[in-house]
This record gives sequence, C-alpha cells and structure tokens, in this order.
Amino acid sequence: AHLDAIAAHDETIHAFLHVDPEGALAAADEVDRRRSAGDALGPLAGVPIAVKDLLCTVGQPTTCGSRILEGWVPPYDATVVTRLREAGLPILGKTNLDEFAMGSSTEHSAYGPTRNPWDTERTPGGSGGGSAAAVAARLAPLAVGTDTGGSIRQPGALTGTVGVKPTYGGVSRYGIVAMASSLDQAGPVTRTVLDAALLHEVIGGHDPMDSTSIDAPVPGVVEAARRGHADGVAGLRIGVVRELGGEGFQTGVQQRFDEAVELLTKAGAEVVEVSCPSFTQALATYYLVMPSEVSSNLARFDAMRYGLRVSPDGVADPSAEQVMAATRDAGFGDEVKRRIILGTYALSSGYYDAYYGSAQKVRALVARDFDNAFAQADVLVSPTSPTTAFKMGEKLDDPLAMYLQDVATIPANLAGVPGISLPAGLAEDGLPVGVQFLAPLQADDRLYHAAAALE
Ligand code: GLN
Repeated sequence: AHLDAIAAHDETIHAFLHVDPEGALAAADEVDRRRSAGDALGPLAGVPIAVKDLLCTVGQPTTCGSRILEGWVPPYDATVVTRLREAGLPILGKTNLDEFAMGSSTEHSAYGPTRNPWDTERTPGGSGGGSAAAVAARLAPLAVGTDTGGSIRQPGALTGTVGVKPTYGGVSRYGIVAMASSLDQAGPVTRTVLDAALLHEVIGGHDPMDSTSIDAPVPGVVEAARRGHADGVAGLRIGVVRELGGEGFQTGVQQRFDEAVELLTKAGAEVVEVSCPSFTQALATYYLVMPSEVSSNLARFDAMRYGLRVSPDGVADPSAEQVMAATRDAGFGDEVKRRIILGTYALSSGYYDAYYGSAQKVRALVARDFDNAFAQADVLVSPTSPTTAFKMGEKLDDPLAMYLQDVATIPANLAGVPGISLPAGLAEDGLPVGVQFLAPLQADDRLYHAAAALE
C-alpha cells in the first residue's frame, strides 16, 4: 500500500531520492517467513520505514543530497540500518535532504526540493524534509532522520509530525555520513509519540563502532509514552524557557504554544518560567562550531576515494590537487561551500581562539544554563520553530533568515540533551505548529511522558 502511495504521490511531493520496491517486498516476505517459523519478532516487524539519504545502506545509493556522491552505493550498513533490518522493518527507500544535511527547507538538495504535503507551494522544513513529508503524506508510516541543529524537529513542526532527537550518543552515528560530529544524532520521525518510542527502542542503544555511543540501556521510552497517555503529567515540573518564544515568533505559533502550556497546567503539571540567558547566543555559537566541524569532515571528499571525479578543463596533465579542486567545485552546492569556507576561516591560525575558541566557551555556558533550568524543572517546553511552513524560495537567497529557523532547536544539540517535537494544532494560516519538549541527558523517557500527555 505504501509503495502504491509513493507511486501515486511522490512525483508531486518528492520525498524520496530512491525507492526500493523489490528490497522492501523481499524484507516483508522474510518477516512472514520468520513469523511462521515461530521467531519472536518485535512490535514493529513488518512495518515499512523510510530512511534519510545520509545513512549508509547496502544495495541502495547514498547521495547525501549531493552531486559529489551521485550513484555511490555504500559497502556497509549504518548501525541504525542494521538494527532496522534485524527488527524486520522493510526499507521503502531513501529520503531527500538538504545537501549533507545543511539547511532548513530541503531546497538545498542537488536533486530538487521536497514539497510540504499541507501546501505544495511551501517547504517541509529541513534538512530532513524528505523523511517528514513522507510520513505526513502517508507515503511511509515511519522514517529515520538526523538532527544536528533541528533537522528532525523543525521539519516535524512544519509538517505536523512527531520528531525526536535522542540524547547525544543514544543512537549510533556509525555509518551516518558526518556533518558536525559533536552535534549529529539520528532519531525517529513518526505520526504519534508511541510510534516514535517504539522506533527509538529499535534504533537506540550502545554500539562499540561509535566511540561516543553511550554504554547504558536505552531509557524506557515506550513505558513512558504509555504512562503519559494513561496518567497525564500530574506532578511533573515543566519549565517554559523565557528566551525561546515571544518576539520573533509568529502569532499563531505563540498562541498554540500558550494553549499547550494551559493544557499541561490543567493536566496537573506544575509550570514554572525558567531563564537560559546564553540561549540568545546559541545560534551564533552553532554557526561557528558546526561549520568548523563541517570543513574538517567534508575534507574526505577528495575525488580519490569515492564518488565524483572531475578533471579541470584545459589542463593536460592535472595534479591530484587540481582534480580535487575541480571535483569539489563541481560536486558541492553553494550552501556547502559557504560552510566549508566559514569553518576553514574560523579554524585558521590567528582566528581560532577568537572564533572557534569563544564558541566553545559559550557552548559550555549553554550546557550550564540547561543544568540550572533542570534544577527547577523536569522538562522544558518551547515552540519548535518560530514560524509555520514558509513558501519555497522565500529564504533561499537569505542564509541568515534560513538559519533563524533553528533558533529554538539548536541549544539542545550544543548541550547534547534530547528533544521531541509534536503537533500542537494549526496556526492562523491553517498550517501545523510544533511544540518542543527538552529533557536532561539520558532522560529521554521524560520527553515521551510529557509529549504523550499532550497528544
Ligand atoms: N538547519 C540546520 C543547519 O542548517 C540544522 C541542520 C541539521 O540539523 N542537520 O545547520
């Protein structure tokens, strides 16, 4: 049924870069075989899933939305993909994204933008717009995304779906093409909070192949979601973050958020206001830390090891360096180049202390503000994104306006703490609004408890 839906609607939505009907149907048959052989299968066995095209998949291309990896098929699976296969989730295909996950609208994909199913003249957010649109348009019941600065949560908000960024280290990064390694985290994209919890338990947990993977059991997120549905949030202390709302947030977004807070209060939560002063510097900090890591991570695309190789025009016997330069010029889009240049500048000798060094100090302040806030509240809450889905092209020529989409999501990545975005109704423009909960490190279960109560 989902393959049929993709065939009928994906020409318009363009959520997928690659669809694998044979592979998905073979995986579904395999689940049937295992089931009739009496194998104990998990609750998601047989449920199809879409995977962001930043995760390595044997047998399916992995382009990262970039020309530089056009046609590349990885020789190994990401750990997340291995876990999906073992749990019997047929992989429908690979979803569209901003090139190397850099963007907030999925318009920076080298293969054309994804459209928002709520209004196809608007973007689905980004970078994981493909995964979010696939779930919102019912082309897939579940998807996997990655969130470096909001790329699961902001598209979730703009498409009326649920998106979770687990605690940093909670889900293995092995086999996920690196954008900014100290910020990247994969997580669930779903219709409901319980679906997200079920998927979280499949993909989460320790992996020796990722040196930053947490060696501890996955928090009991399914149990927490069920508790939130059954018992609500009586006694839970919820902190409204003063710096993540108000000025700069669309009226309808702020209204739905205020109503959500009212609902939580009526459901028995103790709502307090908390202040995290450093959050006003979080966006600037992110846009130094992230490009610095990007400039280093993307150095591996050297035209020698994989993907595209371009010879410079009119050079008879080009050097390796000339081939590398010509390939990177042809293979990377403008946004990727912008960030490589920014990061290289911020890391260069003479500027390192002023830019990268200062950003690392503010990053420590963001973590400290979270610690203070979590001394007063069990979870924090804010709007996920300052606006609803914006028109295609609207922010394409204004990188700063695009970056501002992430103002509320970025603090969590800088500190590594987990976050969830869930739908909170429609704004004055008839488009979905997302509300975000944030929890302390490794307390992902609290996200699900609070979100399920609001759902
Ligand atoms: N939109 C943010 C950026 O452009 C976040 C990207 C992400 O989370 N992958 O960097």
